[in-house]
Parts: sequence; structure tokens; C-alpha cells
Amino acid sequence: MKIKVCHLYPDLLNLYGDRGNVLAFVQRCRWRGWRVEVTEINLGDPVNFADMDFLFIGGGSDREQNLIAADMSKRVENLNQAIENKLVVLAICGGYQLLGKYYRTPEGKEIPGLGLLDIYTVAGAARLIGNVAVEAELAGKKTMLVGFENHGGKTFINQTMPLGKVVSGNGNNGIDGTEGARHNNVFCSYLHGPLLPKNPALTDYLITLALERKGYDGELTELDDYFEERANEAMVKRLLG
Ligand code: GLN
Repeated sequence: MKIKVCHLYPDLLNLYGDRGNVLAFVQRCRWRGWRVEVTEINLGDPVNFADMDFLFIGGGSDREQNLIAADMSKRVENLNQAIENKLVVLAICGGYQLLGKYYRTPEGKEIPGLGLLDIYTVAGAARLIGNVAVEAELAGKKTMLVGFENHGGKTFINQTMPLGKVVSGNGNNGIDGTEGARHNNVFCSYLHGPLLPKNPALTDYLITLALERKGYDGELTELDDYFEERANEAMVKRLLG
């Protein structure tokens, strides 16, 4: 069995090392002996998301988001069907914003999103920047996620489930204590870091969901995450004081 990964707009949505999320997902599959194929999809490239097992969309500046909005809108039906069919998706920051209804820039321009999530984003007075700790629940287990945020947009998620509760930092908007969003197997976050290398438990959860969707419900073999776990704990301790 081969796990098929799609990296959407890697040349444009490439802020803050977000490519590291693809590398972490792929490597943690390969370390367990799974074959993985990565397909990079850029502006105008054809793709059928139904053929994929994991989709990654990274962060980007307002300029890049504007550049890809029209191209992304042509993919909405295909992506929506795949999401309803439990495609595992990770969307970070700008990529997250574009899955919602719109992102209103500081200049007041509304960049249309796909409307696949009942969320919207509006530019705030100041950028939200800094380290973040988030309490999330993955497969029923409370897990602390760490990373850093750098976004001007404030996202409001209405009735959409958050990825987690902000323990330190701003998260979606610095107001309601939520960070990220979840819908079906779509996971969204403002956390760069990159997120997955800093949080192996989340990476493994996404891998597990992707494998379950392909009919494999076995346990993932344990990997030696000693250093990642110590670094995670140290960051949480420093942020919580
Ligand atoms: N341009 C968006 C914002 O500033 C997203 C930034 C990002 O992806 N880091 O909110």
C-alpha cells in the first residue's frame, strides 16, 4: 500500500518553513516502512483530490493568497467531495484562511475563500506574533501543541470545532481563546514551527486517520520521540511560567 500526499502551491504558500510539515508526515510514514508518494500541485496543475490520502496547504503572505484564490476556487467541488469523503487535510495560516468564506486584508480587500469551513478572517489592527501553546484533544487524549504564530488575520470560527484551546499566545484571534479549526478530517492551525515536526503526536494522529481511511486499522509502531517530547515540554513550561 502506498500513501499519496498532495502539497498544494508549495512555491507560493511556503512561509516560515511550512514545507517541514510535509517532510515530517512523509518521514514518519517511511520510518514505519510505508511507501509514500508526494505530488506537488502549483497554479493550473490538474489534480483529483479523491486520489490523495493527505493534503497539505501552507501559509503565505496576503499577496500570495491573492494570487492563488482564483486557481483554488476552480478546485472547490473536487476538494469538497474529498473532504466529505474524509480526506485528511492540514492547512496552516494563509492556507487555513482560504478554506473559509473570505480573508479581508488590512487594505479592506476581501480575498474569497472556498467556503468549505464556516469561518471568516478579517485583518486586525496589529499582527499576532509569538509562541503559542494549545491544548488539543487527539483521539480522546489531551495533547499540548506548541508552535509560533505570525498573522495579521483574525479568524472567527462560528460553530466550527476548534483545533484546541489557547493556553498561551493568541490563536485564531486573540479574543475567544480558540486556535485553529477542525471539520471532518480537516485540521487547520495558525501554528508554524513547522507544526508537525514540533508535535509528533499530531503527525501520528494524521497518519493514523489517513491509514484508517485506506482500510488499515493497525497500530503505528512507536518511534523514538525523546527529544521532540522534551522540547515540547520545555516550551510549554516556559510559556506557562
Ligand atoms: N497573510 C495572512 C495573514 O497575515 C496569512 C499569513 C501566514 O500565512 N503566516 O494573516
